[in-house]
Amino acid sequence: MASSRDELTGGPESSRDFLPAAQRELSVDARTAGFEEVVAGFNESQALREAQRCLSCGNCFECDNCFAACPEDSIIKLGKGKGYDVDFETCTGCATCFGVCPCHAIEMIKEPVS
Ligand code: SF4
Ligand code: SF4
Repeated sequence: MASSRDELTGGPESSRDFLPAAQRELSVDARTAGFEEVVAGFNESQALREAQRCLSCGNCFECDNCFAACPEDSIIKLGKGKGYDVDFETCTGCATCFGVCPCHAIEMIKEPVS
């Protein structure tokens, strides 16, 4: 099933390989029955993947990619250290800014249907 990100960008979410690997956890019953580690940790292949995956914190670092890529000039620079604003009067919701942001600092949300 396509994720909302796929729908917005036309690309698979795995192309932005930022999600952590799942770790096996003990069941609640097993947790209360002994002193085993609750979270199993990573196996070798998971540990290698964790060491290589993007750990971007999702904070904008003012690379200007979105500002440069917006076809409608809807992104407004607020000045160094102050980030950006979006002019929603001219923004078409094309998601180009979302697609070029290297750290997932931009979220696209659907407009509420009235
Ligand atoms: S969604 Fe498209 S038009 Fe709107 S700010 Fe982003 S790039 Fe510009
Ligand atoms: S592309 Fe992302 S990181 Fe770069 S300025 Fe825009 S929001 Fe910030």
